[in-house]
Amino acid sequence: MFQKVLIANRGEIAARVIRACRELGITTVAIYSEADRDALHVRMADEAYCVGPALDTKSYLNIPVIIETAVKARADAIHPGYGFLSENPHFAAVCRTWGLDFIGPDPEAIERMGSKSLARQMMIQAGVPVVPGTLGTIEAVAKWDPLKEPDAEELGYPVLVKAVAGGGGRGIRIARTPAELRETLEAARREAARFFGSGEVYLEKYLEEPRHIEVQVLADRHGGMVHLFERECSIQRRRQKIIEEAPSPALGPEQREAICQAALRAARAVNYSSTGTVEFLLDKDGNFYFCEMNTRIQVEHPITELITGIDLVKEQIRVAAGEPLRWTQEEIQRRGWAIECRITAEDPDNRLMPSPGVITTWEVPGGPGVRVDGGVYTGYEVPPFYDSLLAKLAVWGEDREEAVRRALRALDEFRVEGIKTIIPLHKTILAHEDFRTGRIHTQFLEDVILGSRL
Ligand code: ADP
Ligand code: ADP
Ligand code: MG
Repeated sequence: MFQKVLIANRGEIAARVIRACRELGITTVAIYSEADRDALHVRMADEAYCVGPALDTKSYLNIPVIIETAVKARADAIHPGYGFLSENPHFAAVCRTWGLDFIGPDPEAIERMGSKSLARQMMIQAGVPVVPGTLGTIEAVAKWDPLKEPDAEELGYPVLVKAVAGGGGRGIRIARTPAELRETLEAARREAARFFGSGEVYLEKYLEEPRHIEVQVLADRHGGMVHLFERECSIQRRRQKIIEEAPSPALGPEQREAICQAALRAARAVNYSSTGTVEFLLDKDGNFYFCEMNTRIQVEHPITELITGIDLVKEQIRVAAGEPLRWTQEEIQRRGWAIECRITAEDPDNRLMPSPGVITTWEVPGGPGVRVDGGVYTGYEVPPFYDSLLAKLAVWGEDREEAVRRALRALDEFRVEGIKTIIPLHKTILAHEDFRTGRIHTQFLEDVILGSRL
């Protein structure tokens, strides 16, 4: 097992990883930007080093300085969290070069799944259904005529233009007509090049009101692999999740088995090791399609932990240290229902715009079945430079009804002052008749609750 781990991240996930390390007896090293001197993860870690200014490209994405810090601190391994360098195959490879273990899959698996279009091609070969779309990327937009392109015509409008290297809900645009598509393609390529370092885009059929269902996998470095069932993440704004639950109310036993097996086929196609998530979309007719694979720990991992009793971050560290999986598939059981609400610093009265500032009161809920994974404290100033996630509320209940009531009870106990949070909106969603009966889809929040697309 590792003696010392550097956590190349911030916020709640850095705190989460530090907790896992502490339980495993591992010394922790935090890194922080100049804007994060007072951050919770800095206080929690055994050691902490400043790696650069607020701008993430100069700090949390600064590979040479992060590696240098890890080597100087004599860390054995680096945990990348999510976002930042977590899905950067180059970073994973550089860690190796310096004798540091990267707590994640091999660079090859990250690279192959990191390209959405390459991943789609691999999935087709592996017999996993993919969302209908172009087989490769659209190379020369100038020569590419959507009216003549058989792919686009067969797909039928609307279509989505997706950045091959996109993530975090960004790099996806909708086109409803051939004319719109032609315009969108250029803009999408420019934007993708700027944000993701690659201007490659491809087309996917736009599914109307699908549900987002994803499967958690866990694999060791010796060929052992299991799934830990699914999560449903259909409550989204701007294609980003804000409420997740496990299991999904939309799946029956046969469909659950089919989707979990498809996820294992997907992960095996890249010889996956570590925790990973295979995302699918479920259409109105009950067909599911591969969407993408995230080769890292996911934000919403706690709800899987609550229904299975397995600590995913500790297992991720154990398998990275070379330990074999500790369970067979049959030994992984689930019980009850879990719901997570992402507590973000966003203003529900102003189109969910970020609301940074000083948190004057931070009181978190407690009691039976309530877990809060936070990254802030009373008196902390939320900087404007990073993701707006402050904490995650995850609740467990015997069944969905109890989980929903418990989530509402816990949200009532939450007291945050000084900044705006999304908490009031969570209450509205959880109390809605359609949410209560499980009739949700990825446009539910924007179309049904907010009444407009953000
Ligand atoms: P999850 O897939 O775990 O639910 P999200 O999609 O909400 O996570 O992303 C988690 C964090 O990672 C967010 O801060 C998001 O902006 C960031 N992120 C994810 N993918 C990318 C990417 N390809 N490029 C930049 N940031 C990303
Ligand atoms: P990211 O890498 O940003 O997470 P995804 O490909 O996982 O991007 O898609 C994010 C979200 O966008 C999905 O959860 C879903 O709500 C929506 N989406 C993606 N592809 C489609 C599609 N073909 N049709 C309809 N909605 C889609
Ligand atoms: Mg996704």
